[in-house]
Amino acid sequence: MSRERALIRIHGIVQGVGFRPFVHRLVREHALSGFIKNTSSGVELELEGERAALEAFLADLPKKMPRLAMIDGIESRFGLPLAGYDGFEIRMSRREELRNTLISPDIAICDDCLHELLTPSDRRYRYPFINCTNCGPRFTIIKDVPYDRDRTSMGSFPMCEDCDREYHDIENRRYHAQPDACPVCGPHIFYTDAEGNPVAEGEAALHEAQQALLEGKIVAVKGLGGVHLACRCDEASVVQTLRRRKQRDEKPFAVMCRDAACARELCEISVEEEAVLTSVRRPIVLLKKRAEKAEALSHLSENAMLGVMLPYTPLHVLLFEGMFDALVMTSANISDTPIVKDNGEAVERLRHIADGFLLHNRDIQTRCDDSLCAVVKGKEYFLRRSRGYVPFPVRCGALPAGVHLLACGAEQKASFCLTKGDYAFPSQHIGDLKNYETLSHYEQQIAHFERLFDIVPRGIACDLHPDYLSTEFARDLSEKEKIPLLPVQHHHAHMAACMADNDLSGRCIGLIWDGTGLGTDRTIWGGECLIGDYACFERFGSIRPIPLIGGDRAVTMLERVAYALLRNAGYAAGETAETAQYEKMLQSGLNCPVSSGMGRLFDGVSALLGIRTVAGYEGQGAVLLEAAARKGETEAFPVVFEETDGIVRFDWRPMIAALVQQRESGTDTGTLAARFLNTLTEMAVRQCCMARKATGLDRVVLSGGTFQNLYLLRALPVKLQEKGFSVFTHRRVACNDEGLSLGQAVIAGQNF
Ligand code: ZN
Ligand code: ZN
Ligand code: FE
Repeated sequence: MSRERALIRIHGIVQGVGFRPFVHRLVREHALSGFIKNTSSGVELELEGERAALEAFLADLPKKMPRLAMIDGIESRFGLPLAGYDGFEIRMSRREELRNTLISPDIAICDDCLHELLTPSDRRYRYPFINCTNCGPRFTIIKDVPYDRDRTSMGSFPMCEDCDREYHDIENRRYHAQPDACPVCGPHIFYTDAEGNPVAEGEAALHEAQQALLEGKIVAVKGLGGVHLACRCDEASVVQTLRRRKQRDEKPFAVMCRDAACARELCEISVEEEAVLTSVRRPIVLLKKRAEKAEALSHLSENAMLGVMLPYTPLHVLLFEGMFDALVMTSANISDTPIVKDNGEAVERLRHIADGFLLHNRDIQTRCDDSLCAVVKGKEYFLRRSRGYVPFPVRCGALPAGVHLLACGAEQKASFCLTKGDYAFPSQHIGDLKNYETLSHYEQQIAHFERLFDIVPRGIACDLHPDYLSTEFARDLSEKEKIPLLPVQHHHAHMAACMADNDLSGRCIGLIWDGTGLGTDRTIWGGECLIGDYACFERFGSIRPIPLIGGDRAVTMLERVAYALLRNAGYAAGETAETAQYEKMLQSGLNCPVSSGMGRLFDGVSALLGIRTVAGYEGQGAVLLEAAARKGETEAFPVVFEETDGIVRFDWRPMIAALVQQRESGTDTGTLAARFLNTLTEMAVRQCCMARKATGLDRVVLSGGTFQNLYLLRALPVKLQEKGFSVFTHRRVACNDEGLSLGQAVIAGQNF
């Protein structure tokens, strides 16, 4: 057998995660020689040895790599002439380390640490901050780069001798683990009453918190990226108290379960869902409630699903240990302000909600809410991409190599996205910018990301809507820094986001369905069938515009939309004072802007079906309609199109007429809800067929907030594939407005 040399480039998070010691061991195992060095996007290896050994090394690499390492590309070249390497060398200069800018997300406690946590003889027995190279806080404690302890929240906790020894031992699991600590040198927990007066420390604090929870009190628990409000989930009255104090009447609460077995008591969990639930990222996973538990869990969420997560910090583990199977764990924030993160802030803002505080003295540097996803085709389908995922970049070939960009996102589900080379860095969940504190959090985070990833934007993208606060911010920044600004149409950005998410290039058909977005004609769009690429688009199809009686008020008052649908479909006006007023507004057209938003069609239909006439939170009508839809129903209402101004529009009037007729003849709500969704599916397929006929394109991307609807998300791709289309849905960012900034960035990259 002859020896040869191979060049291997690995892209991803491979620094500060125990990668070098791991490679060192693996090289030894396969009897290879050579060196490793850092590059700007990962590491580069040169190795010499038998071809079979080199290949075995490569095969082992992703399988055996450290838990926190994230590889998003390996390039290898074999058969290079021998250079005569002897042994294995780590070639590392400080300057090179500086260049590697990828930062790990926060990762759930690993099995080794979990074992030590519960082993009485271990020196970190029951220590709430136990962590190692394979687990623990990262993004949420980092203040600056390069990543070392002094530039994290752990800077104020100098390591003790024992920890220091472990830190410098390449054979140790805590080799170069920056946040490592022990009871001697690290942070500690304490418990305060509602006024912030210290009550207990350490084990006693934990005990106080458990006791309070047991008694049905509400306890604020400081976590990784912010504070949670926790309470018993098995007593409706306790949860009602939390709702009342938090002024959150109907929005679902997520629960944290002690383990997967406890979660299975409440919900049905597939093998794939369990894999995501127990993964190192520990998102909240939307799971279907067990039929026999649905009633008992209705105080947590009014629909068929329940958001469930598992403990991810050692403190969570200790809190649940031998005590609770499940607790409500909801982000501690008050009406759309960012999640509370600091001790003083917690007591100040939450003392009217929480009866006690389980806090600690390790600062949270960066807010990061829990991620929320459904599991679709074995993978996360994000509704909110945040803790555990951010700030891992999205790699995308369509981004420009030479210029850094900033994309400012939308407004209600704000996020931003910075780019550098072929990496896009979408931010964590930010929230609604209309709130002043959220807006300043947004601005701070942009500055923080720019510093962390060494990004100096040379182009800015924002939404076409001139009044979004993100647009205002973008405009100001563009003027101040003299950077070119590109306003991007909302649904084009959604489309590009889904294309970039799937790393597509060229032209596609985009079915972009959401609630609201400003169109190029200055009306509100949202039921769009677009054709285009990253550079430009045209509006091929849409839905017949719906008059919004009273403008924005119709977004929460769903019966107004229902009224407009009914009248348009040819039904007689009602008799009440209210409907008389609606009629007057409809007739005069005064304060009745039109919208082709798919969200409005959902709102109107859910009101017509008596599911919801007033929305307590955004999208509530659509969520409950999905929950009501009867599974297995295959019929649909008639699908008719009309063409206006060269746009193929779904004429929903025959659908509404059929729906009302069938409801009057006694067809049940679940069947009608399913038929409505089937009608939209049928409509989409036919629209795509027309678009294909006109353009020859057969790739379809699905994006926009309406595709949070899992019924549609599962049904539509199947129907499209039956007709020969290739269908792409979101994989790495959310389909709602949170994912929009990625699309804006890619479009800006093509236009600057
Ligand atoms: Zn660990
Ligand atoms: Zn120590
Ligand atoms: Fe949108």
